[in-house]
Amino acid sequence: MSKVMLITGGSRGIGAAVAKLAARRGYAVGINYHARADAAQAVVAEIERGGGSAIAIQADVSQEDQVLRMFRTLDERLGRIDALVNNAGILEKQMRVEDMNAERLLRVLSTNVVGAFLCAREAVRRMAPRHGGQGGAIVNVSSAAARLGSPNEYVDYAASKGALDTLTIGLSKEVAPEGIRVNGVRPGTIYTDMHASGGEPGRVDRLKSAIPLRRGGTVEEVAGAVMWLFSEEAGYTSGSFIEVSGGS
Ligand code: NAP
Repeated sequence: MSKVMLITGGSRGIGAAVAKLAARRGYAVGINYHARADAAQAVVAEIERGGGSAIAIQADVSQEDQVLRMFRTLDERLGRIDALVNNAGILEKQMRVEDMNAERLLRVLSTNVVGAFLCAREAVRRMAPRHGGQGGAIVNVSSAAARLGSPNEYVDYAASKGALDTLTIGLSKEVAPEGIRVNGVRPGTIYTDMHASGGEPGRVDRLKSAIPLRRGGTVEEVAGAVMWLFSEEAGYTSGSFIEVSGGS
């Protein structure tokens, strides 16, 4: 039986790269998406062409009922979860804190923080031996923004990643005795569609000269770090963070 991994926001960008690498390493993969069914189906098709097993599952991770439905679908179609990647995340138009309204703040925090908590909860309820599980691992996709603060761009997004890092630390200690490891990856400036959501599709190229490695990162470079945290080599690693930020 293949191990089962759920990747939130697996339809595009970093999540899609993790899904493809996980499938190559033998996981049956649940690919969650919010709106882009076409993108999710393309990832499923690519995995199946390579001989792997994957399904696409629509759910807005900020909505509790939808998270519950997503996990039920995963249970029924792939089996009990072994690995969760809390990757779904959003940011909004670049602006200063003095211009942010409550609706925006709640949208960002609901997806990036509440969504991760809800998915982690459902995963623990399946992984913990107390609930009949056999342990497992969770990787939270945070951001270097949690350390840097994203001034003049999206301090709200950076703060959501700070909260996600605290979830990683606290939950890792809570569930370690039950054989569940929880770690984080903090990507830096990676070539994906996300920068367009902030209003600047060319952001990576604008910033790259200030990055110590002098370039933006690739989604495959982030996926490699995520997958290491699920590997046997990482068996004694919990509550840790890997920076994938070109030295920033
Ligand atoms: P992306 O290319 O914009 O893709 C975002 C993914 O999240 C898509 O699959 C999207 O689904 C999904 N998503 C968005 N809102 C969702 C929701 N409410 N429920 C479920 N899924 C949702 O983003 P990315 O750059 O790959 O980012 C992935 C993660 O890496 C995020 O947590 C981000 O904060 C983090 N990160 C990215 C960078 C970077 O430079 N790119 C740097 C640091 C950290 P649809 O396809 O259906 O829209």
